[in-house]
Amino acid sequence: MHKDTPITDLKGIGKARAAMFVSLGINTAEDLLYFFPRRYENRGAVTSIAEAPDGEICSLIVTIDTNPVERIARSGLSYTKVTANDGTGTLEITFFNQRWIAKSVTKNRVFRVYGRIFHGLFGSMMNSPKIEAVYENKKLPDVLPVYPLTKGLSQRIIADAVSQVLPLCDDVENVLPDEIIKQYDLSNKGEAIKIIHLPPDAATLERARRTLAFEELLIFRLALNSIKERSAGLAAPRMDFKGSGIGRFFDSLPFSLTGAQERVIKEIFGDLCSSTPMMRLVQGDVGSGKTVLAAAAIFFTVKNGLQAAMMAPTEILARQHFNTLEKLLKPFGIKIALLTGSVKQKEKDKIKESLSDGSINVAVGTHALIQGDVEYKSLGLVVTDEQHRFGVIQRASLVEKGDQTKLRAHTLVMSATPIPRTLSLILYGDLKVSILDQMPPGRQKIKTYSVGGEYRERVYAFIKRQISLGHQAYIICPLVEENEDLPRKAVEEYAENLRSNVFPEIKVGYIHGRLPSREKDKEMLDFCSGNNKILVSTTVVEVGVDVPNATVMLIENAECFGLSQLHQLRGRIGRGKAKSYCILMSDSKSPKSKERLEIMARTSDGFEIAESDLSLRGPGDFFGERQSGELTFKFADITDMELIEKTGQAAKHLMNKQRITKEIEEAIDHFFQKTMDGKTFN
Ligand code: ADP
Ligand code: MG
Repeated sequence: MHKDTPITDLKGIGKARAAMFVSLGINTAEDLLYFFPRRYENRGAVTSIAEAPDGEICSLIVTIDTNPVERIARSGLSYTKVTANDGTGTLEITFFNQRWIAKSVTKNRVFRVYGRIFHGLFGSMMNSPKIEAVYENKKLPDVLPVYPLTKGLSQRIIADAVSQVLPLCDDVENVLPDEIIKQYDLSNKGEAIKIIHLPPDAATLERARRTLAFEELLIFRLALNSIKERSAGLAAPRMDFKGSGIGRFFDSLPFSLTGAQERVIKEIFGDLCSSTPMMRLVQGDVGSGKTVLAAAAIFFTVKNGLQAAMMAPTEILARQHFNTLEKLLKPFGIKIALLTGSVKQKEKDKIKESLSDGSINVAVGTHALIQGDVEYKSLGLVVTDEQHRFGVIQRASLVEKGDQTKLRAHTLVMSATPIPRTLSLILYGDLKVSILDQMPPGRQKIKTYSVGGEYRERVYAFIKRQISLGHQAYIICPLVEENEDLPRKAVEEYAENLRSNVFPEIKVGYIHGRLPSREKDKEMLDFCSGNNKILVSTTVVEVGVDVPNATVMLIENAECFGLSQLHQLRGRIGRGKAKSYCILMSDSKSPKSKERLEIMARTSDGFEIAESDLSLRGPGDFFGERQSGELTFKFADITDMELIEKTGQAAKHLMNKQRITKEIEEAIDHFFQKTMDGKTFN
């Protein structure tokens, strides 16, 4: 076994399976070694039926009391029921579409079951738990890794493959110098990696995670610093107002700017008119009107004879910005191109040529924009609309594109990230901050309700009424993942059901991340144009989508989302003049979930929501469901201020003492490389 050994050399991986691994980015033994679990199941923390909190995931050891009974429901779904007990109570267990289970889960056998428990009127129950047979002489593992999956792969297949490459851990070298490892009570990297894959217990796992998190944060810090150093001496093109005609741009808007917008745009123009490269973050809650500021800055840049680029985190959002900018800037003869991953090669080549000869003024796109060979004739401004994804490094690399004339481009970052103020320093430490703390006039507060499933009929009737008034609605479903604990509503099925059973007379579209981009575009267009009245969607609409006519958002299984994510989602409505409504639907009985959803109903302040979310989750909530789509490191928890501070000290120490070793330098290079490949994006 060598780190470059192809995965096809592993036992149990043939051609077909190898292709699935490749789709997860795994080609070699080393790739697999660095393919880490997404979360863990703490199955060793066994509780009792009587004590398990209602609505929470728990682990129980139970004896089966009855032989399984199999039934077929009218829908064709088969389910198998058994009753079990653990001496403190009885538990009814139902397995859906797992007919094979009837053979093994038989009377008097003992199992460890792991799943969500509900204490109802007729006793306690659990649906489709994970089960493991308990034998006297075999200890079950306490902590089970859960890897990200792709279609066709199971946890077991991945764990089997991983176990074959674990011997490579012995060759893994430490990036952290010995003195740091000793001082902060960390372990060796190879050892930590082994434990991350095969944790003996929760405490050992936590120490391993801390070690890897420490390295991750330290390298991040040092990388940020090296960006700063690299760009320190460079100058940016100095723009000026003379002949820019910026007044004509503002006159052309259908509204007048808010006071906050005026203040921030002045700060931006001030920066652009200086030869020190602008590094400015505009932070403003969803709907505060950031896009028009970007448009004004782009207008100003182009009229100063320079080019501008605008980068968005998703293809949908890039297209939308493209449309907005065309509407605002085309009347002034400004030429704009859309450059995303799905643009055809031939078209792409043409756009690239026009960017390098200067015949296109503005490029809008996803991070494909910055990849490799895109050249600009005279890039003066880079706008990043990153919402809550962090792209410090992407940002930096695009800025370097301006370097062809020995000048740097100015940088404007727009973010609705309601990250707690304490964290903005490490994430945006290199930026000046402008706060957009005022909403455009005429906005009404979005009415938010948190309800249970029994309200579904009434909610559907409400949606119907809103649509008959000429409005539109979003319905958000959680992502569907294989092997997940909860029966979640899949987008396509959901839309199908609405079309045939609930709203036969209303046009319903759907969209999710797995849809090919051409279809995504079409669905978005159908909804934006008002052709479709309802859009069923995953969180792909979370970032920035702007359809002011949409006045209702129903969020299914609302307990599955992070609060900040719910806040972003809710920001899709309440964008026009009409009153808007957000309905959070959840059948979760867990008090914690209820409290979280109540916060959403109570406040619309993004900062307050983010801070309550953190304090409810608490730092180091390693076994909790990781929130997707938010700022995440692989191992570091951005709420762990203590570790963040310690890595800050360590970084300073290493820089002051000039102890940046060869290993650290390589790790920084690797970090840049990885980030440029877009691998830290999702
Ligand atoms: P965000 O800050 O979330 O990116 P947008 O830039 O998408 O917000 O703006 C939200 C909506 O508000 C858009 O439809 C935009 O045209 C509108 N808008 C922006 N500024 C103003 C303003 N000063 N007055 C009225 N409407 C505005
Ligand atoms: Mg926006």
